[in-house]
Amino acid sequence: MELKKYPAEKRKITRENLIERIQVNDWLYVLNEANSANMYLVIGEKRALLIDAGYGFRDMRGLIEEVTSLPYDVICTHGHDDHVLGCKWFPKAYLNERDYDLCTSNDNPVQLEKQLASRRPFIPDIDELVGKEEYLRTSLKNCEFCFVKEGDIFDLGGLTLEVFEIPGHTRGSIGLYCKEKKALFSGDTMMKNHILVYAQSLDTSAAPQDYIRALGKLEKLDVELVWPAHGEAPAEGSLIGATREMLIEWAKHANPEEGKSIVPADSVFAKPGSFSYKFTYNGIKLNYNVLHLDQIRTFMQEHEGAVE
Ligand SMILES: [Zn+2]
Repeated sequence: MELKKYPAEKRKITRENLIERIQVNDWLYVLNEANSANMYLVIGEKRALLIDAGYGFRDMRGLIEEVTSLPYDVICTHGHDDHVLGCKWFPKAYLNERDYDLCTSNDNPVQLEKQLASRRPFIPDIDELVGKEEYLRTSLKNCEFCFVKEGDIFDLGGLTLEVFEIPGHTRGSIGLYCKEKKALFSGDTMMKNHILVYAQSLDTSAAPQDYIRALGKLEKLDVELVWPAHGEAPAEGSLIGATREMLIEWAKHANPEEGKSIVPADSVFAKPGSFSYKFTYNGIKLNYNVLHLDQIRTFMQEHEGAVE
């Protein structure tokens, strides 16, 4: 069965729809920012939870408070800029401590300018729509970050969201599992029809064997739908296993020379002129750091070919 997509298609971005709110059902809203990041508002009987805070291009509190009068918390799936910068609108946000330094490293005008630059190829008038001068002056300093770890539970009343650590894309990446709805909110740890980025410096990302192990743990959960932060949402629960299989195949058979290309001069995702490495399997496109491949092959040598 074909899944309905949220949002159904890319929209022409205006000042009013920089963040588009789409109701999925009586307990879930998707908040899509600038045709890029999906945030999720989960509403229980007593509380609500905003999963990810986006680029922070606009104040999104109204979009939440128009649809629920319940108290709500904010949690970020990881410390990357397009997930944490919107925390500036809120007094408090949750994050895995392992990504706290990554999170605060985004809190300066240079990084904020990079967010605008990353969207400019798709939205040429993004500076005007966002109000560039004002955006570059914003800061996370008024948001207090509180830390979550594996097993922590947000009880919304009738719905619970449990924290699962998924180190890989970043060291502190987490997913939130709602067992009542068999739903997993997966951040940037798995993607459908979107590049899965595992190409950051080894300082901020985790070892591949840890990534594979974490996905193996998630595979044991009863998941019907996965809600990633970019690309197509939702995806079938089988995306977890497909991602794990892809990483195992990559560990065993990837040839860096085959997927190597030079990062173009206008790229804002990696250093222009450096090398970018790609691997595709199970329909999943991985963009990886070649040092991660070295890392897992060393691990396999030391563990009789085991990948986890
Ligand atoms: Zn990310």
